[in-house]
Amino acid sequence: SAVVLEVHDLQVTFRTGGGLAPVVSGVDFSVAPGKTLAIVGESGSGKSVCSAAVMGLLPSNADVKGEILLSGRELNGLAEDELRRIRGKDIAVFQDALSALNPYYSVGWQIAEAYRLHKNVSKKEAWKRAIETLYLVGIPSAATCAKSYPHEFSGGMRLRVVIAMALVNNPKVLIADEPTKALDVTVQAQILRLLEDVQAEFGTALVLLSRDLGVVAEVADDILVMYAGHATEVGTVRDLFHRAAHPYSLGLLGATPRADVPRRGRLATIPGELPSAGSIETACPFQPRCAYTDRVGERCITERPALTPRPGEGDHEAACHLGRRPEM
Ligand code: SF4
Ligand code: MG
Repeated sequence: SAVVLEVHDLQVTFRTGGGLAPVVSGVDFSVAPGKTLAIVGESGSGKSVCSAAVMGLLPSNADVKGEILLSGRELNGLAEDELRRIRGKDIAVFQDALSALNPYYSVGWQIAEAYRLHKNVSKKEAWKRAIETLYLVGIPSAATCAKSYPHEFSGGMRLRVVIAMALVNNPKVLIADEPTKALDVTVQAQILRLLEDVQAEFGTALVLLSRDLGVVAEVADDILVMYAGHATEVGTVRDLFHRAAHPYSLGLLGATPRADVPRRGRLATIPGELPSAGSIETACPFQPRCAYTDRVGERCITERPALTPRPGEGDHEAACHLGRRPEM
């Protein structure tokens, strides 16, 4: 099927006082209209950096290599004013519902302004559009609610407002960065169902960033697991839940919170923040925390495993030297 967002060999390096810090080391992903890709990893895994790279929102000390194609158009290297035209219109992002809304303006006004930023319409038309969009995300009596201020809404309702703001321009790609993190389980489920409904209606491609495999299992089609800036496993939801092949994925599946992630000695600092360039290029990034490295031996520290197809398992790939699937 045609993909709308296609990322090839994305490499992001931060130039810091201490040298070069690679934070994303050659990651590929793509998502088709109406489909959901989940990028799963802990903080420091590089998932948010991937999303910021796609949005063109990385700080100026970030060096971005690789292709970022939106409907075939290269975004990497586009001028800021071009990116601004795309951001919020073709690709929208939403994350923290609290900081995304301005407390001093009505929610209707904020959604209408997000629309007017990309569409040359009257304020009246934009207000109408804002109300329609609030209806769309399941806000009751949207016409009245549009005049309310963010503090008048519960956490879950506020997130709906933020989603409405992200959807008002009918984006091709919606990036949700840990959208349900602060919400209780019932509201989380409602929000994820809402995203699915929206997607079914508009064919939006959804990129869901999460640290929780359980959350994404509900809505994702494909999953990319990242560790320390590297893709460690990619596959369908089925691949990850029924035939996970990377020890890190097994750790993530074992328990939330991560009580079951094997810890050998001290928990390693996650590379991507501190180490000098090159230090993680010669070893498996997961080696310091891996419970299976003894079965492989030296190779885990002398050779970084590349993503390799799992024989007979379609597009399922894992980056690990273990030949056979580790037992759970
Ligand atoms: Fe563990 Fe070695 Fe596989 Fe890395 S390559 S995940 S250290 S077994
Ligand atoms: Mg993050």
